[in-house]
Amino acid sequence: MLYAFKNRERARELKEYLDKEGIPSWYVELWGNYIVTTPPNARAQTPVKADVEVELKGEYQLVSRAWKKEPTPVRIGDREVAEGKIFIIAGPCAVENRDQIMAAAKAVKDIGAHALRGGAFKPRTSPYTFQGLGEEGLKLLAEARESTGLPVVTEVMDSQDIPLVAKYADALQIGARNMQNFSLLKKLGKAGRPVLLKRGFGNTIDEWMAAAEYVALHGNGDVIFVERGIRTFDRTLRFTLDVGAIAYMKQATHLPVIGDPSHPAGDRKFVIPLALAILAAGADGLIVEVHPDPSKALSDAAQQLTFEQFRELVEKARALGRALGKTV
Ligand code: PEP
Ligand code: MN
Repeated sequence: MLYAFKNRERARELKEYLDKEGIPSWYVELWGNYIVTTPPNARAQTPVKADVEVELKGEYQLVSRAWKKEPTPVRIGDREVAEGKIFIIAGPCAVENRDQIMAAAKAVKDIGAHALRGGAFKPRTSPYTFQGLGEEGLKLLAEARESTGLPVVTEVMDSQDIPLVAKYADALQIGARNMQNFSLLKKLGKAGRPVLLKRGFGNTIDEWMAAAEYVALHGNGDVIFVERGIRTFDRTLRFTLDVGAIAYMKQATHLPVIGDPSHPAGDRKFVIPLALAILAAGADGLIVEVHPDPSKALSDAAQQLTFEQFRELVEKARALGRALGKTV
């Protein structure tokens, strides 16, 4: 069951009662409500009546529109990812050096990005490839934020690194390969930073929603879903962008949904059309790879956009956004 209260004391009373009875339960404060949940099979006659009581069905509840009808905006730094707007996060796949990240940050800011991306801890297929600059990369991102005012989004791969990454970054990206790293998801509940939860390329939509439920249930309701392509029988492009998942998720969750056109494309030639498809399907924004000199990039060289290509993307996204009635 899910019990929601406007009054904190009554929620605490219920939690104490369930603890005393030995009924497993969670207490969390989210989106202006004090919430107590119990597993789907735990039926209790509770002495405390909640303002709203909903029977839990399936693997998640808090992140679903069935539970919360109004869209939930999520803040990144001083900006907001919200329904009715298009939020653009841009920057290189990885932070490589000061000149590279400063040039990228300045260019994407001037062209119209709302936040800067760049990996400092990189999940690479081969251990022999560039793994990211670690804390040095985080410091460079913070420097880029100082000089451009853009909030910074970067990946955290290991739960041990959450405090370190949260010290420098405005939002924490959870990579596709870690979408079901449950101990990491639980710890993000206390990270104090919004989370961009990328869909695992082998994961269903339900698994993705349940992964977000972990973060929310453990205390952090600021989750943004990122569709980034799944693995299918067709390997012509790097991954198969699941456009249908975006349309579906916009109805299934009240949290923001954005798309990453870079990783499914695998080749910069296809990034702009995929980005437009993401927006046309209803996404609240994009996260896209842009590099000052893509062919020399230390990771994902083939798919990163040049500044000129990014300018073209932003112009087209603005035109499409207007047609969709959104603020860009
Ligand atoms: C990335 O954003 O650079 C990245 C590694 O993404 P994903 O986890 O979606 O592969
Ligand atoms: Mn990348």
